[in-house]
Amino acid sequence: MQAAKLDDALCKAISFIRIDKRPKVCFICIRSPHLIISERIAEYANLGFLSRHFLRKHVSKLKDGQFVDYMDCGVRLKTRKELLIHAERFHGIVSQVPIECPRI
Ligand SMILES: [Zn+2]
Ligand SMILES: [Zn+2]
Repeated sequence: MQAAKLDDALCKAISFIRIDKRPKVCFICIRSPHLIISERIAEYANLGFLSRHFLRKHVSKLKDGQFVDYMDCGVRLKTRKELLIHAERFHGIVSQVPIECPRI
C-alpha cells in the first residue's frame, strides 16, 4: 500500500474509534508511532481478543512509576487500575479482571 492510503486507513480507524462505542481496535496501539501502521489499525475479531491484547501488551507492562499519556482523551494514566477503568469507560474494552468501583 502507498503511504497516502495507509494514512487514510489510519485516519478512518481513528475516527471509527471515536464514534463506535465498541471499537475492536486497540486505542493505545493506534496512537503508537513506533508501531507499523498495520499493527496500529489491527482489528480484533472480538472484544475478548482485544481485551486480552490490551491486558498483555499494555496493562501488564505498565510498571510502577510509569504512565500512559493519552493525548486523544487528554489523560495521563498512572496505574494499571486507571488504565483499565479508562479503557472500560471510554473505549469499551471490558477486561475480565474485576475492577473495584472507585468511590466517587
Ligand atoms: Zn494495543
Ligand atoms: Zn481514552
